[in-house]
Amino acid sequence: MAEKKSKRAKGKRGKAILVLCLGILLIGIAAGLFFSPQQAGPGAPNIVIICLDTLRADHLGCYGYHRDTTPHIDRFAAQGVLFEQTLSQAPWTLPAHVSLFSSLYPSRHGVHRHDLAIRRRDKLFADILSKAGYATAGFVDVFLLSRKYGFQRGFDTFRDEGEDKGAGQMVDQAIEWLSGRQGKQPFFLFLHLFDPHSAYSAPPPFSGRWSKKYPSEFRPDTDSLFQVRTKKRTFAPIELAHVVACYDEEIAYADDELGRFFAYLRQAGLYDSSLIVFLSDHGEEFLEHGGVLHGVSLYDELVMVPLIVRLPQGRLAGRRIAEQVQLIDVAPTLLELAGLRSPRSFQGISLASYMDGSARLSGYSGFSEADHMGAGHNVKRCLRTNEYKYYYDIRTRQGKLYNLLRDPSERVDLSAEYSGLAQEMREELFAWMESEGDERRVPSLKLSAAEERQLRSLGYLH
Ligand SMILES: [Zn+2]
Repeated sequence: MAEKKSKRAKGKRGKAILVLCLGILLIGIAAGLFFSPQQAGPGAPNIVIICLDTLRADHLGCYGYHRDTTPHIDRFAAQGVLFEQTLSQAPWTLPAHVSLFSSLYPSRHGVHRHDLAIRRRDKLFADILSKAGYATAGFVDVFLLSRKYGFQRGFDTFRDEGEDKGAGQMVDQAIEWLSGRQGKQPFFLFLHLFDPHSAYSAPPPFSGRWSKKYPSEFRPDTDSLFQVRTKKRTFAPIELAHVVACYDEEIAYADDELGRFFAYLRQAGLYDSSLIVFLSDHGEEFLEHGGVLHGVSLYDELVMVPLIVRLPQGRLAGRRIAEQVQLIDVAPTLLELAGLRSPRSFQGISLASYMDGSARLSGYSGFSEADHMGAGHNVKRCLRTNEYKYYYDIRTRQGKLYNLLRDPSERVDLSAEYSGLAQEMREELFAWMESEGDERRVPSLKLSAAEERQLRSLGYLH
């Protein structure tokens, strides 16, 4: 009896296992049907993203700057769609780029310190394109975007050796890869230039172009600028003018090299067939709010970056979009334009239908966060709309409200005068912070003494 029972039990268990196996098989087939990697269709465009690091939007000609810093980018912008207000999700390189590639806010991807790396499970733009059949190549000019942090994921070719090699060498690398490319599959190229990042020292003939009008002994390298940041010294007005001019010369140098890159694309017949995006990861401050360099505050000189999208054949050339968008919107936009679906994890939206005017952006709140070099990490937040910014410090629990239309340089805190609006925006910001949750678990890194020295030389470590 006991034996029979046991046999029946065994039989039942056997059936149960069979049903379970069938179930798993069916789920597997369904998952295969619905979640298999997408394939880029015939005619999928080549995609090029050019990031000119540390470039505040208001220092480009096409964004209204008074100096002729960017003649080549301006011409490129005239053939593309220019977003007048693009909010970066963080004011320094590492979290801003992780947001660009993962379409996640920093609180969600969790990479907000130099000793943290991208999680394996986060879906990255290059990886999605690679799985869809794109040939992929990335050329980066700073250690913070190296394979150590996981940025190589999805790239067939990824070159991250050296640092601040300069736009000339970076453009050479990209041209070399494009020239040697074989096969007919579409490609994705990420070209990262680091020139406007400190130290500001453009090569001739760009050095001195504007700075020689402001003679100064001050050398705008990271160490000297750090002395100003930490209030160990200040700038005389002529020194500040000199420093800004040196920064602009670096932009002009990179622009010139990009002119060479665009000329190559045209000559190789790739300019018109590609989707080309120009952007930056964050800006730079020059004492507008008491600081220099970047990383510790979220004023517009740090979080407003250029974003220009040139569609194949120069479609929609010259269009300007005044409404605010965000860096996390870039990946979903490009995927839609390439005929690919974005993963559900993406927090940005596709801007494709706003570019051609078939839909209108309205009332879109953007969020930015971080504080890398302050006393804490990731402790500042802002909620920004087309008109207002609510700026909050988690440590002090102080919030400020700025009217960006009437006071674009963010001088007058209106939080007392417009307490109702300040409260409303504070509540929206808090709701967003709660939805993003607490610190995410991300892989931590052990940096070598040489790597720490490298980060220190860039001002990313005290
Ligand atoms: Zn950067």
